[in-house]
Amino acid sequence: MKEAAVFVDGEFREPRSGATYTIVNPANEEPIGPIAAGDERDVDAACLAARKAFDRGPWPAMAPTERAALLWKLGDLISGKHLEEMAELETACTGKTLFDSGKIEIPMAAEVFRYYAGWVTKAGGETLPSRGNAFTFTLREPVGVVGAIVPWNFPFLLSAWKIAPALAMGNTFVLKPASQTPLTALKFAEIAQEAGLPPGVFNVVPGPGGKAGMALVRHPAVSKIAFTGSTEVGKGIAREAAASLKRVTLELGGKSPNVVFADADLDAAAKGALTGIFYNKGEVCAAGSRLLVEESVHDALVEKLVQKAGSLTVGDPRDKKTRMGPVASKGQLESVLSYIESGKKEGAKVVSGGARASVGQGKGFYVQPTIFDRVQPEMRIAREEIFGPVLSTISFKDFDDGVSTANATIYGLAAAVWTRDVKKAMRAARALKAGTVWVNAYNLYDPSLPFGGFKESGFGRELGKIALEHYTETKSVWVDLS
Ligand code: NAD
Repeated sequence: MKEAAVFVDGEFREPRSGATYTIVNPANEEPIGPIAAGDERDVDAACLAARKAFDRGPWPAMAPTERAALLWKLGDLISGKHLEEMAELETACTGKTLFDSGKIEIPMAAEVFRYYAGWVTKAGGETLPSRGNAFTFTLREPVGVVGAIVPWNFPFLLSAWKIAPALAMGNTFVLKPASQTPLTALKFAEIAQEAGLPPGVFNVVPGPGGKAGMALVRHPAVSKIAFTGSTEVGKGIAREAAASLKRVTLELGGKSPNVVFADADLDAAAKGALTGIFYNKGEVCAAGSRLLVEESVHDALVEKLVQKAGSLTVGDPRDKKTRMGPVASKGQLESVLSYIESGKKEGAKVVSGGARASVGQGKGFYVQPTIFDRVQPEMRIAREEIFGPVLSTISFKDFDDGVSTANATIYGLAAAVWTRDVKKAMRAARALKAGTVWVNAYNLYDPSLPFGGFKESGFGRELGKIALEHYTETKSVWVDLS
């Protein structure tokens, strides 16, 4: 692994500044590194290499079957011989369990490559009827160089959501991973070399967001920015990208409602609520962080949740028994604990957890799975994205009250509804203002289902056929036949 390097034009290089930094394994606080601190100069080199590969390289013009085969090969290498190492690297940087990295997320990323390999040979333009004596059709062309900026919670999976459709459509790519989690991006660069991706098609520049990230957003050779991260940073990127009218897609934060009606299967709803908030220690943009429960079943459901949450094992993410690892960083630990304090101060009742968890020798950023009851919608813990294992439970009176409480947020990334009544489920699915609605389930994903937000959760969609729109330009061609 070349972690002290940037990956530009098909080769690992020292960063221009020569500077490196270390990151901290959140499970044991041991340093990982040195990591290359890329800056504007490395971003410039990467963007120019990607531009050259786009303008003069073989990639955009490659036969579709050949490009598809390369994407498929990338998928196979990720879920085959490199799976274990990818999973270990992801767990070391993020604290997610090795089970989640190795059995769920890295394999899902590989699936995304295979899914978009299928689109390479199928996405095309149309012939269309038009006025006059003309032959008219559209071409679907790649946008050019795509710059991607991704967060630390699902470092490789969220990168794959961008890399795979972009490369499938013939674009070239510069990836700026989150500074705490660059290792799977660099490992993927090695995989790209092994698969035989032409130089410059895929580049990685690890480094701080304000410097390396912003340099990518400003770079004139970049045609599109695909960003996943916080709403605040996303707004800054949209403002900056407006200067050159770069295409932008933004996948941002959430405060997703998980709505349980009185007629739901309460055992299933309790299980779903726990997955919804405690998967990946709540560091999930779509986490079901607001549990809205119809009054008549509120206490019964909370009792079930408390029982189940008490038996979730918090511990070393590499241990098979562990269900929840540490939160990703010291800063994240402090932020989550301060939200827990704010919930207590505002009068919500802690019914499970509510503090730092002690594991092993006392090292690591572990938090107890925490459930607040009697939360009022105006409290901070009910309004702001905590991005940690903290659930806020809120009561509602009836269907309309449940839906309007669910929608009373600036966000709109995901929502879930639990009921045995099909009509109620469908009415709720229509009424909830969110990019994804799960019915009697939580946290399901598939490469073919679009994912993205309403409102301040961003714009654009990733995954599915619809994402191809964001990685192509449509050109209309008129041929005069008169
Ligand atoms: P963040 O916004 O702090 O950072 C995201 C990325 O942006 C990182 O690579 C960072 O280095 C970079 N960055 C930071 N400041 C920048 C700047 N000024 N200019 C350019 N780039 C900059 O987010 P985070 O803390 O890494 O991730 C957590 C957030 O991401 C949460 O809000 C979460 O909801 C969101 N998220 C959203 C989705 C989704 O699909 N909607 C998925 C995962 C995470």
